[in-house]
Amino acid sequence: MAINTKTYQDLIAALNGKATLVAVSKTKPAADILELYAMGQRDFGENYVQELVAKQASLPQDIRWHFIGHLQSNKVKQIAAFVYLIHGVDSLKLLQEINKQAKKLNKVVDVLLQVHIAKEETKFGLDEKELDAIFTGELNAGALQNISIKGLMGMASMTGDRAAIAKEFSYLKALYDKYATTAGPLRFLSMGMSGDYTIATEHGSNMVRIGSLLFGERSKE
Ligand SMILES: *Cc1c(COP(=O)(O)O)cnc(C)c1O
Repeated sequence: MAINTKTYQDLIAALNGKATLVAVSKTKPAADILELYAMGQRDFGENYVQELVAKQASLPQDIRWHFIGHLQSNKVKQIAAFVYLIHGVDSLKLLQEINKQAKKLNKVVDVLLQVHIAKEETKFGLDEKELDAIFTGELNAGALQNISIKGLMGMASMTGDRAAIAKEFSYLKALYDKYATTAGPLRFLSMGMSGDYTIATEHGSNMVRIGSLLFGERSKE
């Protein structure tokens, strides 16, 4: 058994229906995914387009696939037909490309905008000014009919300082509330990973993305 059944059950109990669990299965084999699937898990997250496409084709069709990595515009068309939610949208250009591919398929693709909340410059994401521009500008203009912005996603700094992480998550929650009021309705606030999901749920997260806690450490990243 690669998956620890008790860890999974404890996690589901701890989330207590308040947050959706996205099981982050990147780099992990299909057999591990099927073990969680057999326990009832349906939401899975992947970071790499190639890997996601291969897994989607070979695994049960009722899995809800979340794309949580940094998505390149030229790869959108490979996942647009089946992806359940794209978490990491961090530019208007990418929004426009998703819209274009969704339009070709005559469907609406659900997305989350990624916000830069961490101290590290290397992390991706929009700032508040860019969010304002997207929520008030392009969308009101009716230009993007084939995407639906369902909420926000963010990653906190890699630090053991829990107060600092809490501050970053609180900031993201405040932004979520702001846009839910002015541009809403929004549904998902995707924040929290294996190391910080308890802080995230204490600060308003309703969707956590958890990998290593469930599947064990990853050998490559
Ligand atoms: C890998 C990854 C996760 C899961 O990380 P763990 O620390 O293994 O839980 C969550 N979100 C994103 C965006 C990731 O890339």
